[in-house]
This record gives sequence, C-alpha cells and structure tokens, in this order.
Amino acid sequence: MRIQCPNCGERAIEEFTYRGAAAPERPALDAPLEAHFAYVYIRDNPAGRHLEHWHHAGGCRAWLVVERSTTSHEICSVRLAEDQEAQGAGAGQ
Ligand SMILES: [Zn+2]
Repeated sequence: MRIQCPNCGERAIEEFTYRGAAAPERPALDAPLEAHFAYVYIRDNPAGRHLEHWHHAGGCRAWLVVERSTTSHEICSVRLAEDQEAQGAGAGQ
C-alpha cells in the first residue's frame, strides 16, 4: 500500500504510522466517565470507506487524514489534518 502525502508525494506505507479513526470527537473534560471510556476503548469496525489519521513519521512528520476502504484498502483521498481542523471537523487532536 502506498500513500500520496500532500507534502512529499507518493510514499511506501512503511514511512507512516497509523493512529486510528479520524471521526471520533473527544468528549468535554466534564463529560461523564462513560463518554471517556467509549472514546478510548469502543471502536466501530466499518466495512467500506473510513477516515483515519496517519503520521508521516519517516517523511515530513505531518498528520494526515486518509479516506481508505477497509475492504479493498483503496485510498480514496489524503489531506493534511491541519486543513481538516481549519474546516472544523475536529481532526488532528
Ligand atoms: Zn510527507
């Protein structure tokens, strides 16, 4: 699998570190304990397109939001997490 880094171009997957799903919103500090438990431990297992955070640790060290199909591993889009944050989607926490 290869990822098209917006800064570095197409690179091998070995240069990247997977962080997890990009979708979950971090609960507020005063949220109930159950909300924090769910944020940390409860994960969806989607089949199909999924937003994920990847770190280009072996390159520009940027955080990326990668839209990938969990069934075919096709990468549909890649953008910088800081751009996602600027759009108010809450990525790159
Ligand atoms: Zn890069």
